[in-house]
Amino acid sequence: MKKIAVIGSTGSIGVQTLNVCRRYPDEFKIVSLAAGKNAALFSEQVKEFRPKVATISAPFDGIAELEKYSQISVGETAFKDAIVIDADVIVIALVGFTGIIAVLDAIEKGKDIALANKESLVVGGDIVMKKAREKGVKIVPIDSEHSAIWQALGFDFNHPFNKIILTASGGAFRDKTREELKTVTAADALKHPNWAMGAKITVDCATLVNKAFEVIEAKWLYSAPFSKIDVIIHRESIIHSMVEHVDGSVIAQMGYPTMELPIQIALSYPKRLNPVTESLNFSKIAKLTFSELDETRFPAFREVVNAGIKGGGYPAVANGANDALVKLFLENKISFNDIYAGISGALSAYRGEYFGDFESLKSANDFAARQVKEKFGV
Ligand code: NDP
Repeated sequence: MKKIAVIGSTGSIGVQTLNVCRRYPDEFKIVSLAAGKNAALFSEQVKEFRPKVATISAPFDGIAELEKYSQISVGETAFKDAIVIDADVIVIALVGFTGIIAVLDAIEKGKDIALANKESLVVGGDIVMKKAREKGVKIVPIDSEHSAIWQALGFDFNHPFNKIILTASGGAFRDKTREELKTVTAADALKHPNWAMGAKITVDCATLVNKAFEVIEAKWLYSAPFSKIDVIIHRESIIHSMVEHVDGSVIAQMGYPTMELPIQIALSYPKRLNPVTESLNFSKIAKLTFSELDETRFPAFREVVNAGIKGGGYPAVANGANDALVKLFLENKISFNDIYAGISGALSAYRGEYFGDFESLKSANDFAARQVKEKFGV
């Protein structure tokens, strides 16, 4: 039986991870949970799973009652207490920059990671992968595209390949013109055509920043030079990504869009458990389409990939600006196109102070947040 810690248990990935664990009580045991602000759902989860440790970012009235079931810690980084020594796998499903704090803590404690929080590899992939190697910690992907690549490589991160081909649905605004993109709202951005996810990643899909993050994530997970990572728009989200092997053979991983399958695989591999959706019905799907990503309408994609290519503190600036801008966009304080303008402005202002440590990443992140605040005055 694998003992699982879920960091970010009340979010979209966290809840789906618990669904997977609930289905397989003989395979997985929840030993700890960490939540942010959703006290009601956190309380339900603690009562149901009775983890050894449970943490929440802010105090609330029902904590005393929950102490009957679990050891409870409270605080913004109390999630570190949920990265417990007897867990076999830590699922890191926090959102944004905070994720890297959990990732580095798990590595420090020598714990294997099932990683949903792509931002941790975007901002600090070099530090994270180096430390994971030193500590012998395995990091396996939950992100569906990276799970697809991992499966196409036979669960072997060192398998040689010619090319990784990441598929992208194109997000909520894939059919909008440049003119229309000037007036789209947060409510529009949250209507993803194929996936139900947390708010931040859904906006990242609409800007295509998510796809740029995935390019950087693939670089670190698969030691892939950027020149070997392609992106293609595939509206149906049936092919989750592909690998072109050295002999030119292309292996695609397919399935109906659900995160429960990649989560289940991250927890159970190399063993495969039962299906989480009905079988693919190819005659109903009828056609799979592919087209080029339009960088004119979605310029943030290239801006963020270029930050990844530059490396150092640049990706942390791009991510820090994006975290702050998406928050403002979701609060209806800035426009959709301001997200690109804000990322681009923060990157141009950055002078590249980077010493290969967490503190440099944190200061690049904070610098970007200040730039956004100065530019938009909110
Ligand atoms: P959500 O916003 O739905 O969930 C984030 C989780 O983090 C919530 O449980 C939230 O708690 C928790 N959290 C926030 N701050 C803290 C804190 N200080 N301490 C403890 N917990 C905290 O995000 P998603 O699940 O959508 O995404 C999580 C990550 O997975 C992101 O990096 C995303 O890019 C990635 N991802 C998500 C996919 C999806 O389908 N959702 C697909 C692929 C990748 P609370 O809600 O209680 O405030």
